Amino acid sequence: MIESFAMLPFKLIYSDGYLLPIGDHVFPAEKYRRVRDRLLASGVAEASDFLEPELASDQDILLVHKPEYVSKLRNGTLSPREEMEMEIPYSRDLVDAFWLSAGGSILAARRAMDDGVAISLGGGFHHAFPDHGEGFCMIHDVAVAIRRLQRDDKIRTAMTVDCDVHQGNGTASIFAGTRTASEPLPSVAASTLSPVRMRGAHAGDVFTISLHQHNNYPLYKPPSSIDVDLPDEIGDDDYLAWLDNALSSGLRQFEPDLMCYIAGADPYREDQLGGLALTIEGLKRRDELVFQVARARNIPVMVTYAGGYARNVEDTVTIHCNTVIAAKEVFA
Ligand SMILES: [Zn+2]
Repeated sequence: MIESFAMLPFKLIYSDGYLLPIGDHVFPAEKYRRVRDRLLASGVAEASDFLEPELASDQDILLVHKPEYVSKLRNGTLSPREEMEMEIPYSRDLVDAFWLSAGGSILAARRAMDDGVAISLGGGFHHAFPDHGEGFCMIHDVAVAIRRLQRDDKIRTAMTVDCDVHQGNGTASIFAGTRTASEPLPSVAASTLSPVRMRGAHAGDVFTISLHQHNNYPLYKPPSSIDVDLPDEIGDDDYLAWLDNALSSGLRQFEPDLMCYIAGADPYREDQLGGLALTIEGLKRRDELVFQVARARNIPVMVTYAGGYARNVEDTVTIHCNTVIAAKEVFA
């Protein structure tokens, strides 16, 4: 079977250094390499579609994170409690992997501005806060990328669209400082999908949207610009209706220069840490919807992968590969 495939019309950002050195862990650290390998083996991508990121600088990291926290990470002086809260074992190599994922997100954001879309086969560490890490996240790579592009005057505003099954508490916390007074969403009253709560507030320079399972980590969910608190076991059609609703509401209120799509694989019905019931096909439709909305409005979109804990790791790899296929189809 020999078939020729055109190069992708966008770049994939990847490094072997994305691997988190955390040993045997519910977070499948090898998923990044497996996604890269499958994309190449299946002919979805070719070697020239990939770009290798560099480590973010400490200066980049400090655009989001507190000097005291960065210094603890650099010097290996986290307290046992802080390390426990991160839920991954600290090492210097782990610090490098997170600095690299931040560099990957910066590169993805830059390439998205040039090409309309770019995907980092990693990142999306949306539970990292300015002064601490939690939930397998040390550094908020997406926030670092946004702040770096703002500093470089490449963008003024950004919108995060977080579809990981867990709420983007770090994202909400980091960008809450720029929020002004909250107002009710115009769409809420008209909605017929009553079991779901959708909360909204106006944003400053970064508008944050999070669709997540309400009854899941994090227990305390700091307010995003739009939070869609989904009930357990919601399926493809309801999920997609809520995503469509949230994107429409967000883009009525806010015009981002860059969209940052956090394409978590864990809303999948076979996920060990998630309680929603999306199918693999439904997750691909989710990706297509985000890309179609971004493309229709000419909003550049950078993508990161975030979580994914399917009982069979091959399913997580399939869901992440499908994100690239969806982008290929929409941006062809
Ligand atoms: Zn997650």
